[in-house]
Amino acid sequence: MNLEAFVLGCGGMMPLPYRHLTSVLLRREGQLFLFDGGEGTQVSLRRLNLKWKKINAIFVSHTHADHVTGLPGILMLSSQVERDEPLYIYGPPKIAEYIETSRSVLDMYINYPIIVKEIEAPCVCYEGDGFYVRAFPLKHTKTCVGYTLEELDRPGEFKPEKAKELGVPVGPMWSKLQHGESVITPGGKEVSPDEVLGPARRGRKFSYVTDTLYLPSIAKEVRGSDLLICEGMFTKEFEDQAAEKKHMTSTQAATIARDAQADKLGLIHYSPRYTDSELKQLLTEAQAVFKDTVLTKDRMIFEIPYKD
Ligand SMILES: [Zn+2]
Ligand SMILES: [Zn+2]
Repeated sequence: MNLEAFVLGCGGMMPLPYRHLTSVLLRREGQLFLFDGGEGTQVSLRRLNLKWKKINAIFVSHTHADHVTGLPGILMLSSQVERDEPLYIYGPPKIAEYIETSRSVLDMYINYPIIVKEIEAPCVCYEGDGFYVRAFPLKHTKTCVGYTLEELDRPGEFKPEKAKELGVPVGPMWSKLQHGESVITPGGKEVSPDEVLGPARRGRKFSYVTDTLYLPSIAKEVRGSDLLICEGMFTKEFEDQAAEKKHMTSTQAATIARDAQADKLGLIHYSPRYTDSELKQLLTEAQAVFKDTVLTKDRMIFEIPYKD
């Protein structure tokens, strides 16, 4: 089952000619989940040439302009395709007012149901087939939340030799066992799944954290992430300024990744003060703490494979 993260933008505060605003689209087996959508998010979606108009759910970190002003256009353009399934939007208080006001003031033509849910973190806000999305509190100049999408454990590996040995014939009984059901063999013997399956295998975890002060609690929430996308807005030199504006340095993002034992850290939400070549400093400082750090770039794609 494929799990991919598409970085639609990596900038903070304002879009730049070469850097869109922070937004990530996660695709899991054809289902689409959008995390934030500032001005210009559509441009990246278009340039990626993805079939994106049937987004299943949008998760908003907070209602600052650089994270939400692209949403009305995305909602409108999503009406260009036929769909019956609703689009869910989750976010902190005011997200419902923002979406409703945009819909009414802009006279948006929408041909599918939109369900907006304001959340109070921490909570599990969305449950899908084999995974769930959890929201947790961050600390910014207004209510802000981080998200993790975590898959449930998968059944262990099926051992065909073992099944044959126990007298289970090849066919539907194998499939039942693989799906966790016991079977009775033609010889009248009951065989349970744990007799033919290895230990349960861990699912994957994606985390999205932006616009926050450094908080040690974030590492607990994003523990074991296969991919952690995290704000690293400033270099160490501006640590005080970052704290004052309730943002993080790349070193603090790396500290979270290290403490959470994440597999990979993708820095995002760069301050517009840095040119692309100056971003190297953010990377160097982060890698001193957590080696598997990368600078995200607009339209960068991360494949998130199973570990076993
Ligand atoms: Zn921001
Ligand atoms: Zn903000």
